[in-house]
Amino acid sequence: MTKVMVVGLDGADWELIMPWVRAGKLPHLQRLLAEGCYGPLASISPPLTFPAWVSFSTGVNPGRHGVLDFFARIPGQFRVRLYNAMDIQEERFWHRLSRENKTVGIVGMPVNYPIEPLNGIVLPGFDTPGIGGGKAPADHMYPQSLYRELEEHCGGYWVVPNLVAFGPHQMSQAAERIKFVTVNKGQVVDYLLTSRNWDCFVFVLGETDSVCHHFWRFHDPASPLYESDPPELRDTIFAIYRQADEILGRLLELLPPDGHLVMVSDHGMGGTSDKVIHLNLWLAQEGFLTYKEQVWKKTWWRQAQRRLLHAARDLGRRYVPHALKKFLFRKTDLIDRLESHLRYAAIDWDHTLAYSDEGFHFPSIRINLEGVEPRGRVRPGKEYEQLREKIAAKLLEWEDPYNGARVVHRVYRREELYSGPQACHTPDLVIDWHQDGAYGYLWRPSAMAQEGRPIERLDLSKSSERRFVLNRSGRHRHEGIFLGYGPAFPPGREVNGLSIMDMAPLILYLNQVSIPAGLDGRLPTDIMKGEYLQEHPPQYDSHSETGRTQEAKPYKSDEAQEIEDRLRSLGYLE
Ligand SMILES: [Zn+2]
Repeated sequence: MTKVMVVGLDGADWELIMPWVRAGKLPHLQRLLAEGCYGPLASISPPLTFPAWVSFSTGVNPGRHGVLDFFARIPGQFRVRLYNAMDIQEERFWHRLSRENKTVGIVGMPVNYPIEPLNGIVLPGFDTPGIGGGKAPADHMYPQSLYRELEEHCGGYWVVPNLVAFGPHQMSQAAERIKFVTVNKGQVVDYLLTSRNWDCFVFVLGETDSVCHHFWRFHDPASPLYESDPPELRDTIFAIYRQADEILGRLLELLPPDGHLVMVSDHGMGGTSDKVIHLNLWLAQEGFLTYKEQVWKKTWWRQAQRRLLHAARDLGRRYVPHALKKFLFRKTDLIDRLESHLRYAAIDWDHTLAYSDEGFHFPSIRINLEGVEPRGRVRPGKEYEQLREKIAAKLLEWEDPYNGARVVHRVYRREELYSGPQACHTPDLVIDWHQDGAYGYLWRPSAMAQEGRPIERLDLSKSSERRFVLNRSGRHRHEGIFLGYGPAFPPGREVNGLSIMDMAPLILYLNQVSIPAGLDGRLPTDIMKGEYLQEHPPQYDSHSETGRTQEAKPYKSDEAQEIEDRLRSLGYLE
């Protein structure tokens, strides 16, 4: 029976990798490129880690699986909460494999907590609570007996490098930590693959993503955020890729001759510019949003609020004993409330037509719609449509004041990107942002603007601004990577037109399990060998229903706090 290994290199990008491959510095990847087929893999829009991995594993768009971002808006309130696996309303491919009696291993997959038992093993991804210093606890593994086994053979399973523990002057230690965690994951995967039977093994390495968020400014001399000091940090990103290459080499040794290896990333990666966009300030400037007070102005009250927020986080992270922390965050929702306050409190809802949740990655626009928003002002139907058109047209005219370049490449109405029962929760307008030259703009809530302008250049002489870019000099791009290796794939061929949603049907097919009909992704027969397809005709299953109804089960407040801290340390939050 054919075995399938799936390797997810979070945030991997061919533009980053290829120069190293050409220079002969990643020998195993070089072999995979020569003997397999490869090309770009379109992520979902916007290219965010949570929804992208869920689309990868379900084969459907976020409007169907329901994970739209890192945070879900709580309906009827100006509050957000973190998504977890209970929000996923579709079957993931390993559930189907498990049901078909395949033995599966799932290691490091995001949005996979709480863990669901299956025929095989599961180790959590970076967004699981209860990790503390970085090691996964027994009750977040399946089966729990794995904990002792991994302690004994690999020194435990380290889920995250816990970068939040390292300040701006400890980047060398942070680099060592990422390397340590990457090496550990290689050992864990090696141990699991050699100690038990498996049919499909899925391994996601998050460190390829976090190392770029943190170390791009040391790696790329052309980056507007470039730092040449300390010089040894220049090779940190490469060091993680070299480690990933070594893991790939080991996986190739363990793959039987008729086995397949599929390598993907959930999105690509590039550098960031030194300009920051404040989307709500732009909406205000164009007359679509009204503030009750000057939102960015540094009044004593606002300053105090921000200081309190930072203090509360620091306190939670470092000094407060666990029991008190639990009390503070679970009973009072302190941080959640302050965070929501900073985002939404200054908006005059009675005079606002559209606004953004102002997430730190690829912010979108929502219409202040009657019947949906607590203080809706726009009527559904014609008024809504006309407003969306007007905002979209204005966005396309938006110019960067520093160079006159266009800021927005394209604007999607929600229905152009998403379909399905959850699509009604997606933003009304989704923006495809231009790059600032070769670098991506940064985004930040308007309350954190320095001068009150929609686009501002960072003043890197300020320590707060240097802190802001600490984990943000690398940024996601839409195009990730795909590589297929094994008897189904033609050697050395470049392929195009693949979507991340095609991966679930592809992996099911390679495992010789039927593909549910009606997925948004398709089996990419055009990239596979004709004779292989003839010998292994794809089976489709038109009867089974992939949708599943799960009741959302939000994280407890102290758990949410822990994961938010982790997202912050990975560069996803302020
Ligand atoms: Zn990612």
